[in-house]
Amino acid sequence: MSLNRRNFMLGTAGVGLTLLAAGCGSQTVKKYDAIVLGAGISGLHAARLLEQSGLTVAVIEARDRVGGRILSLTDLPGHPEMGFNSMGSGYGRGLDTASQAGVELVEVGHRYTYGQPTGLYFQGKHLSREEWATDPGNPFPDALKSLMPFELPFAVLGQNSPIADWTKWCDPANAEFDNSFAAFLAQQGLSEEAIRLSYDHSPYHGRNARDVSTMMMSYNSGFVQNQIAAGPESFAVRGGNIKLPEAMAAGLKGEVILGKPVAAIEQSAGGAIVTCRDGSRFQAEKLVCSLPLAALRHVDISPGLSELQSKAVKEVNYQPISIAFLTAKAPFWEEDGFAPGMWSDGFSSNVIPQRYGATKEEVTGLMVQARGNLALEWDKLGAETALARVVADIENLRPAAKGKLEARHYHSWAGEEFSGGAWAYYGPGQATVLPRAIAEQAGPISFCGEHTETLSRGVEGALASAERVALEILSA
Ligand SMILES: Cc1cc2nc3c(=O)[nH]c(=O)nc-3n(C[C@H](O)[C@H](O)[C@H](O)COP(=O)(O)OP(=O)(O)OC[C@H]3O[C@@H](n4cnc5c(N)ncnc54)[C@H](O)[C@@H]3O)c2cc1C
Repeated sequence: MSLNRRNFMLGTAGVGLTLLAAGCGSQTVKKYDAIVLGAGISGLHAARLLEQSGLTVAVIEARDRVGGRILSLTDLPGHPEMGFNSMGSGYGRGLDTASQAGVELVEVGHRYTYGQPTGLYFQGKHLSREEWATDPGNPFPDALKSLMPFELPFAVLGQNSPIADWTKWCDPANAEFDNSFAAFLAQQGLSEEAIRLSYDHSPYHGRNARDVSTMMMSYNSGFVQNQIAAGPESFAVRGGNIKLPEAMAAGLKGEVILGKPVAAIEQSAGGAIVTCRDGSRFQAEKLVCSLPLAALRHVDISPGLSELQSKAVKEVNYQPISIAFLTAKAPFWEEDGFAPGMWSDGFSSNVIPQRYGATKEEVTGLMVQARGNLALEWDKLGAETALARVVADIENLRPAAKGKLEARHYHSWAGEEFSGGAWAYYGPGQATVLPRAIAEQAGPISFCGEHTETLSRGVEGALASAERVALEILSA
């Protein structure tokens, strides 16, 4: 339902009744100029910008911590990052926010480039690039046979980008590309088996290539290319990225109220009233909602949002990613002579060495990452079984690893109630209509968060969205 005068009045009447009912209890309603829902980086940045303009602001957060999808495990070797890893030199907002928050950034580009390149394990055996190119099991078209499976989708997309200007990726003029990425890959000559191996086994967006729009993939590819063009550096916060949202929260004048999942938002004549699951209530003239859509769909909003916005809240999916963090008692890769990092077509999928130590050679742990359907398969097994099977799979592929791996932590983003996945992605048919609807202001509610941006992704997008909502509110 869109917010017009008639349904606004209906909505206010409903709110009046609810308030009367609440008035019978002992809950008082705390009042602010603005309330920010969610203490992830977008919510915290929005709160800071509003405070700087003199508004009284409170941040309400469901979890017992700030940071949302920024999460460093500071009690494990190398403080592995379960969420946000690093920002490129093109992250103008990210770099500035870190500087304003007073956290120290370190250049970490070597994490991705140091040492031997990622090894390929196909059908149980290690293959060099040359061996892979001529392997009878390689299902790629002749011209692409020397690409590793994990390189192929983005290489093909980069070379044959269907959308000339990626910044216009969700423009309805590009609607002909709002088909599945599987259809795009098939047009490039990839067989079903080639798509399964190169994308479906380990997708960045979607459960598989049929589940994501080519427009979304073009957006991601364009943004990444743009970042690469900005320079080779990569930055992370010394001691763990979680220090950034922690410092941002500590720098706020107003309260950051933790452990209070929001259950309902009511638009009222004077702004909005927020009710948390524990019955506590807060009121403000303006509301900033940074909740990921997968969490927002469990919040009752009255009067309801526009038809398209409601559709987005209900239907936009979030990327399943699950992570097994392992440490090695000894560097088994020195024994078998292959790279510590590996990609396999089996259960352990992506093994990414973590080089978070004092020297760039040091491997502080192994991050094993499952994406898409494989992540959901891991989650179904449960943390303990999934970890045991990951270790067994690596040991099977690399006998030198036997007895040397320790399973330290399991994290499922799809299993996190207040995230619902790692990031939002658009499926075929969604990309021309939903991205813009998501960010529309609804009465006193402004929406921010990575999912509301169409020009920057990740943390940079989240920060850009906070600036947009602050402007929306301050210029009203
Ligand atoms: C594995 C992984 C790797 C990543 N790597 C990178 C990277 O290298 N570079 C990059 O730029 N980005 C990366 N990202 C993405 C980046 O972390 C996110 O885009 C960004 O942190 C999102 O910030 P946000 O404020 O939009 O959302 P969030 O961080 O999700 O914040 C939303 C907040 O709302 C809270 N919330 C939810 N429901 C409720 C409720 N009912 N009531 C109250 N509060 C609620 C949540 O708890 C959360 O704190 C990665 C993410 C993941 C998962």
